[in-house]
Amino acid sequence: MNFLVTGGAGFIGSAVCRHLAADPQKNVLNLDKLTYAGNLASLRQIENFPNYSFLQADICDDSLILQTLRDREIDIIMHLAAESHVDRSIDGPAAFIETNIIGTFRLLNAALAYWRELPEPRKSRFRFHHVSTDEVFGDLPFDSGIFTEETPYKPSSPYSASKAASDHLVRAWHETYGLPVVLSNCSNNYGPYHFPEKLIPLVILNALDEKPLPIYGTGANVRDWLFVEDHARALELVATRGAIGESYNIGGHSERTNLDVVKQICAILDKKRPRNNGKPYSELITFVTDRPGHDRRYAIDASKIERELGWKPQETFQTGLEKTVQWYLDNEWWWQPIRNKTYAGDRLGTGQTA
Ligand code: NAD
Repeated sequence: MNFLVTGGAGFIGSAVCRHLAADPQKNVLNLDKLTYAGNLASLRQIENFPNYSFLQADICDDSLILQTLRDREIDIIMHLAAESHVDRSIDGPAAFIETNIIGTFRLLNAALAYWRELPEPRKSRFRFHHVSTDEVFGDLPFDSGIFTEETPYKPSSPYSASKAASDHLVRAWHETYGLPVVLSNCSNNYGPYHFPEKLIPLVILNALDEKPLPIYGTGANVRDWLFVEDHARALELVATRGAIGESYNIGGHSERTNLDVVKQICAILDKKRPRNNGKPYSELITFVTDRPGHDRRYAIDASKIERELGWKPQETFQTGLEKTVQWYLDNEWWWQPIRNKTYAGDRLGTGQTA
């Protein structure tokens, strides 16, 4: 099987590349523009594998994509390339429209042209897997409701609106042109190699630096967290065994308020790396002005992928978070160069992705 992973130098894409390339039967081509969020250091573990390769390219370049699909005889496209940070989408939505909407449109066009010319049996084997977010569904009340695959779309931020638009385009290319697509919508991911502007790594690294741990509003917003390697396994299943035209919700059954997440990280750090002054890290928690349009709660019903594809998360939030904290303690070589760069914009650096 020949996989093309777009956005494979990002947080989730790199986990997908590492996961797929561990199987020598699978060839993995990582296609990534290398924006600020792309980092080839996340692929160091597999960069010399004979079944892994990297191509720096923009998904908006449809002629290059079409040529690449032909040259590499791609069987499955896993489309993860996106602008993904909600705060950045508020401060500068243009890049989100360009990559998430126009880029997906161009990628679909290249995929359709390629798929149409494929001979059997490669034509029947081909899949376009679009990787999306639960944020397309909008927000839920604090005390009830859960997102299923049938929940109507009601995005709140420029980021989630651009992802919703891309989901609609992918479905339209299936309904209108017959392109064999599968979709997945996942909750918040966390784990190793997560860009340090996002909540969990930001809190770990600020705590180690004795800096404030910023939390939006009162910290009551609820997110459903999934360990990134559990997501990578789910994505492989959806891409290779999902039913054509279907979408699958993916989530970790781990709803937590942002305040609880931060307190849990502090408690793990208190044990693993006690502060010199002997005080708890939670003392560094600081509440900051809330983000505009901040969704209250997301919660995912993942029963379809569990029932139909036999997937289940292997990590609980506690075990996944312990692994994540330990990874950041052990891998300063990866995050220190990123931390040394300053982030632009006022709200950036609060770390709250969703
Ligand atoms: P990320 O920001 O870490 O990585 C995105 C990658 O896409 C980067 O490597 C970047 O260089 C690349 N990219 C951006 N624009 C590109 C372009 N025009 N052409 C080629 N490459 C480009 O994002 P992530 O957190 O890994 O998310 C990956 C996907 O999963 C996104 O589609 C996102 O919407 C979705 N998703 C993310 C989460 C989450 O919690 N992070 C949850 C559900 C779904």
